[in-house]
Amino acid sequence: MESLTKTPIFRSKSKQPAMWTLLLVVLFSSQFSQAEWFHKTWPIMGTETGARFWLDDPNFSDPTQQSEALKAQQQKAQELLELVRQEMHRIDVIYSPYIDTSALSKINAAAASTPQLLSQEFAALVDKALWVSQASGGAFDITYASVGHLYDYRNKIAPGDEDISKTLPAIGSDRLLWDRKNRTLAFTHPLVKIDLGGLAKGYAVDRGAEILRHHGIKHGSVNAGGDTALIGDNRGRPWFVGVKNPRLTGEEKNWQEQQVLKLPLINEAISTSGDYERFFIDEQDGKRVHHIINPRTGKSSNGLISVSVFGPQGINTDPLSTAIFVMGVEKGLNLINSIQSYEAVLITDTGKVLYSDGLVDPNAN
Ligand code: AMP
Ligand code: MG
Repeated sequence: MESLTKTPIFRSKSKQPAMWTLLLVVLFSSQFSQAEWFHKTWPIMGTETGARFWLDDPNFSDPTQQSEALKAQQQKAQELLELVRQEMHRIDVIYSPYIDTSALSKINAAAASTPQLLSQEFAALVDKALWVSQASGGAFDITYASVGHLYDYRNKIAPGDEDISKTLPAIGSDRLLWDRKNRTLAFTHPLVKIDLGGLAKGYAVDRGAEILRHHGIKHGSVNAGGDTALIGDNRGRPWFVGVKNPRLTGEEKNWQEQQVLKLPLINEAISTSGDYERFFIDEQDGKRVHHIINPRTGKSSNGLISVSVFGPQGINTDPLSTAIFVMGVEKGLNLINSIQSYEAVLITDTGKVLYSDGLVDPNAN
């Protein structure tokens, strides 16, 4: 015992070379260890979309194979990024209201005269939209687009009161004749338009994350504007997703300063709906005209200025955040508190931050 503890291991002549070899291999492999984060962003769906993930070490024990293994790893990462990009692009091309040839545009052009057959995927999105519409008492409604398409935020155009009142009768779930069994959709009013912008991004990030998971990714995220799907954790720590201060002054220097709070999340999706995402200020009355429309009034919803919802799936967090934004504090909190596994953080136009029942207010004592 004594000799063992008193003899430093590297001093033992016979063991020295073996130990150094071992040490060198460790040093070498850590130097060439290429487990790393890969990420890329693309402008799709009128916003910045992107993916980020951790790709484990390529398998090599023989140092002479390292460069090949590294090349293969880089290639795999690029292929995965490309798969996610293609999926986002596919969804955009089918559901964009801004692309004339999209399936959505074709439905909008024809469903007032003849019932239109929807794909399985399209049908599932319509089902989800109708469910959220019902759960929110019509605050979320894809027929909001009957008036919504008259807004042009880039060119600061909003419909006048007359145009709004003309289109209001075309808004409401009962304006849709949805034959679930035959998957056909018809409109019961000539001015009906639908838009899936309130849930398409949440669906897209779910799909992107599904693709990455399928290819073995254990830590990553897929993002589209205000919607993010997280895969696993951030390598042993939760992901910290920030809720942005909806009224940034421009003075904030870094990411930390721009956040109202940071949410520790693992393997969840989070969506934020904010009145700062797409808006302009009306020069006549100084009011903010933004992209979340109250289907009852045909005008931008007010009262809340930011709603974040998180839970297992983006296809739910996305429309729920939009729905709660329109519903307001009381009804919105009631809705989220009635849905298991989903939580929300709401910010009012007076700067008050409210939490759903499953969260602990960090300022409460
Ligand atoms: P988000 O930023 O995720 O809250 O989604 C806002 C998007 O949802 C808008 O850009 C519209 O495409 C769509 N949208 C706006 N208002 C509504 C509404 N009341 N119901 C359903 N979708 C809406
Ligand atoms: Mg949303």
